[in-house]
Parts: sequence; C-alpha cells; structure tokens
Amino acid sequence: NTPLHELDPAIAAALDAELERQQSTLEMIASENFAPVAVMEAQGSVATNKYAEGYPGRRYYGGCEHVDVAEQIAIDRVKELFGAEYANVQPHSGASANQAALFAIAQPGDTILGLDLAHGGHLTHGMRLNFSGKQFNVVAYHVDTDSGLVDMAEVERLAKEHRPKVIIAGWSAYPRQLDFAAFRRIADEVGAYLWVDMAHFAGLVAAGLHPNPVPHADVVTSTTHKTLGGPRGGIILARSKEFAKKLNSAVFPGFQGGPLEHVIAAKAVSFKVAASEEFKERQQRTIEGARILAERLTAPDAREAGVNVLSGGTDVHLILVDLRASDLDGQQAEDRLHEVGITVNRNAVPDDPRPPMVTSGLRIGTPALATRGFTAQDFTEVADVIAETLKPVYDADALKARVKALADKHPLYPVLNK
Ligand code: PLP
Repeated sequence: NTPLHELDPAIAAALDAELERQQSTLEMIASENFAPVAVMEAQGSVATNKYAEGYPGRRYYGGCEHVDVAEQIAIDRVKELFGAEYANVQPHSGASANQAALFAIAQPGDTILGLDLAHGGHLTHGMRLNFSGKQFNVVAYHVDTDSGLVDMAEVERLAKEHRPKVIIAGWSAYPRQLDFAAFRRIADEVGAYLWVDMAHFAGLVAAGLHPNPVPHADVVTSTTHKTLGGPRGGIILARSKEFAKKLNSAVFPGFQGGPLEHVIAAKAVSFKVAASEEFKERQQRTIEGARILAERLTAPDAREAGVNVLSGGTDVHLILVDLRASDLDGQQAEDRLHEVGITVNRNAVPDDPRPPMVTSGLRIGTPALATRGFTAQDFTEVADVIAETLKPVYDADALKARVKALADKHPLYPVLNK
C-alpha cells in the first residue's frame, strides 16, 4: 500500500510535471481532451486487475459478474448515444478498433478506398507502413486543392474504376463535414461496404451537432478520447447486427486477449457524460471556438503574415492553418506557439512542398479548452494570441502573460493539486 510518491518518485515526479504542464499551458492538439476526474477514477480502479476474455455473460474466466455489469452498461449507453444496434467497447485504441473492423468486412488483398494520409486521412486508412497499407490494396482519394473539400467526383470515379471491397469515410485532419449519404450511394453503386471512422468528430455527433454516420454505414469506429472526452480507447458500432459475430470475433480472439475492464468502466462513465445537456453545450463552444479561430486567422493582418485557413473555415472542432505563404514552416510555427504556452501539432497541407517532418501547416483544435470552460470571449483572445505569435515580429513575454492569464482564469483539475 505504499503511495506512488514513495514507491516510485521518478514516475511520480514525471506525472506531477505532466499535470502542471496541462494546467499551465493551453492544450490545442485537436485529438486531445481532458477526461473528467470520475472517468480517471474508473480508469484507475481495481478493474485493472481482472481478466475477462470473452463478452458479458460469455467469459472464459470466473469472477466476471461485476465487470460484466460495467461492460454491459457501456454497451447499452453507447448504442443509445449513437442509435446503433450493435456495439463493441473492447478495442484498446482507435487503431485496434479499425484493424478489427477492417478484418471483419474484408480479407487481406482486397481493395480499400480511403482518404490519403497527406490529405487528412488516418494511418489505418491505408498508409504504406500500417497494417492497412501492408495487407490491403490501397486506393486513395483526395481533397480538391482549391476548395480544400473532399473530391466526391474523384471518390466516385475511383470506386467505379477499382471496385473496392470497402470505402472508408473519416479523417484525422479535415475541417468540414463529410456527406455520408453520398458515400453510401457510391458504395451501393459498386457493391462496397461503407466504413466510417468518426474518431475525431464522435463528440459532435453525440451532441447532435454533426450528422450521425451510423444510419449510413455498415460499420462505424471511433476513439473515445478525442471530442468524446473519455478515456483513451476505441469502440465499434453498427446500425444492425449483420456483422455482430464477425466484429466481435475480430476483436476477441482475432486481435486482442483480455479486455481492459477498467478502461471499459471509464468509457461507460464518459458515455453517461456525453448524453448530458452540459456536454452538448460544451460541444457547441468547441465548434464556436474553432469558428472564431478560423475568422481571426483569415483576417487581413494574418493574411499579410502569410497565414491562411484551409477550406476558408470550419464546421467542426479544428482548423487547418496554411503556412505556405508564411516565412514560418509548420515546425517553426509549432515551436513558436509552444514557446508562448500553446500546444498544437504541425500538419501537412495537401501537396505540401515541405517534408512530412516539417510541413507547411498547423492543426489547431478547441475540444480541450472548451472542456476547460473557455467561452467565445476566451477563444477570441486565444485566436488573437495565435495570430500575433505567427507574425514576423512578436513579443514572446507579453504573449506568454496573456496565455497565463487565460490558464489562470480556467483552472484545470484543481482537486488533483497536492
Ligand atoms: N482514426 C482516426 C480518424 C484518428 O484520428 C485516430 C487517432 O489519431 C485513430 C483512428 C487512432 O486512434 P488511436 O490513436 O487511439 O489508435
């Protein structure tokens, strides 16, 4: 029963420093969020000790009566939240969910059609070094260079030409909504399955602020830790039970052994939160904050500094900053924002002239700050700080002070302070 600080001071110090970092800086990585303390409590619970291979009521281990209750609650809540008839809450991560989903509906060697990684797709949608790129025949669609929008005419043309087994609709870096009905129509025309990966925008869907892909897709995957605001993990959903057996068996025993029942309990808590009015209001502020950022970073003084926003704006929780006309590359811009206390990640713009480790863009997201309580007024200040930081001449000390004032105004996890 030795406390962490006594048992392992090195790890305790690293975790204390991480808490301090999260509290004192502005977290604007679009895929990150702050899980509620109750979610972390469930995730740090005794359920971490339990082996429970199998599914509720059909386990390969004894003593599962309590984790069965928690896992069934997670399943029931997430089905209700997204209007799905099928749910699997066991995937350890978004990538695990995607691997299981793909292997449930396709065989190695089959053709898959997904959004190119360099145009905003995810590694698991067919990147060369990922399982998806190594084991499947990948065809990629793109965004239109002028509009920044997914080129649906290209999706249709490639689908007709290559007749993929699976069409993937989903993204990691895209500021607009996808037309799921159009993807469905194209999939039906060529006899493909439609898999939607809503990892990024699931929280917006849960709040009713983004179209729900579940009625359109054969299978839907998601992470639980991005806009959805839960513990790190993955889920698989489907509108019907058609693929239930294949999906369950792909997760276990296909790719995983024992489920992380502590994380599943935490997922259940986060699904309860996601069904609340407070959550909806938070997602509204998330989208509003991203719109405020887009507006500020397309203002004349930002344009003069070579800063622009891909697609001209946003419908979701993130913006993509285009730095092709700036003296700063993506790496330099990321470093400069880090210097003033704002954490973002550099991101390739379509047909980026710079290498992937440098890039000519930034991806900036608002979920974590919205969770922290940021209002439209706060986001206006954040947007101005970012615009000023990306100018050729900037006053780092003054900008740091403005970041600190915002962080102090919205304390994060005060109950965790020692
Ligand atoms: N799918 C999409 C669209 C993502 O953006 C991500 C994460 O970045 C994933 C899947 C993978 O999630 P994880 O990092 O939990 O494996």
